Amino acid sequence: MAADLGLAINYEQLPACGATLVGAGESGRATVHASGNHCRERFVAAHELGHWLLHRGRTHECAMHEADVNLAKGTCSEVEADTFAMHFLMPKALFASCFKQRETPDFLKIQMLSERFGVTLAAALLRFIEVSSVPVIAASFHRKRLRWSVSSDCVGSSWKLKSVLSEHTPTHNLIFRGEKCNSLTTNWAHAWFEDRACGNYSVLEQCWSGAAGQAFVLLYLQPEMMKLSRSGLSRARLASCR
Ligand SMILES: [Zn+2]
Repeated sequence: MAADLGLAINYEQLPACGATLVGAGESGRATVHASGNHCRERFVAAHELGHWLLHRGRTHECAMHEADVNLAKGTCSEVEADTFAMHFLMPKALFASCFKQRETPDFLKIQMLSERFGVTLAAALLRFIEVSSVPVIAASFHRKRLRWSVSSDCVGSSWKLKSVLSEHTPTHNLIFRGEKCNSLTTNWAHAWFEDRACGNYSVLEQCWSGAAGQAFVLLYLQPEMMKLSRSGLSRARLASCR
């Protein structure tokens, strides 16, 4: 498909970056770092195709090696190219059909899907959050620091994660003690959110090892928390103080 759109893609050793893209007129050439990780190479190639279609006329040197690295950095054009790659490699109709309505998949299922679609776990996790119809948040931590978090549409912007990882979470135990988390478990919402309004609610959570010192986390929020979100957390906070 890339060739039909005028973009030649080659795979070479690029010690300093993940990929480069140069183009003139209707012809371009992308060079993808031959990492040996097939899923990662596919994602980077699709990312370059995204640049070719969305940001033509610019030369790109892409530092990313993983789908969530640009999310952590927040560079707009890089995030746009990643979003294109996720939509291209995991079309919504196909990807969403892998889940039952209201399903809350764990990391094992998301890993299986990443293998089925030939993408990395991070790419499949981010795409799941985009297509999910349940209240779910995915995040990544490096040591105790929040790298990034994304929410499904129904969560909205009211529920923000703490920027520092609580010691009262399986994610903390995974990063600092190496204790794996093989299934979804229940935890208090206040371990994850600052807002006092979440006091009596719980979340379903699971964490998964990422790069060195990093972990991914999946958090399913109770539907009742969404009602609270819609009515305004500040109002709920006032009520809780009375
Ligand atoms: Zn890029």
